[in-house]
Amino acid sequence: MPSLDKTKEPVAALLGALKFAAAKHSRQRRKDLVATPYINHPIEVSEVLSRIGGITDLPTLQAAILHDTIEDTDTSPQELEDHFGQEVRLLVEEVTDDKSLPKQERKRLQVEHAPNLSTRAKLIKLGDKICNVSEITPTEPAEWPLQRKLEYFDWAEKVVAGCRGCNPELEEHFDAVLKKSRESLL
Ligand code: ZN
Repeated sequence: MPSLDKTKEPVAALLGALKFAAAKHSRQRRKDLVATPYINHPIEVSEVLSRIGGITDLPTLQAAILHDTIEDTDTSPQELEDHFGQEVRLLVEEVTDDKSLPKQERKRLQVEHAPNLSTRAKLIKLGDKICNVSEITPTEPAEWPLQRKLEYFDWAEKVVAGCRGCNPELEEHFDAVLKKSRESLL
């Protein structure tokens, strides 16, 4: 009897990505006051894509969960390919900054590259910016002065401008979240 590879079953594949990302981010924390476990962020990004964007495409949701593993942990592209296949590995690489470059250059390149991303990568960027913008409040991140928060909003808006045209619900949600976060700082 042929043995079925249960890791290919969609729910198992999604949970596999979650387990992998949780292990990789296990010692990292967000910049908020209570130092939320980092894994909450990729969980939120994938949940927003699903709930707001109506995304059911498995590689997109897996890559959303894994989107910060290459950039922020010791995960190699090959490791992602071994666990989740080439499609997911390529998607995560698409949304990964080149950490050998200075921060300002990386931010500039995100704006420049956004229009050329694949549709799936644009969706992940949208979800990422929605979650990051919604986390900025008058009190958090505590070490960010007001000016840095305002500059972050302007930059996120530029990256999202290059990702428009693939999911109206996510784009409208970004606009609403950005408006709310901006107004909270006034
Ligand atoms: Zn992220």
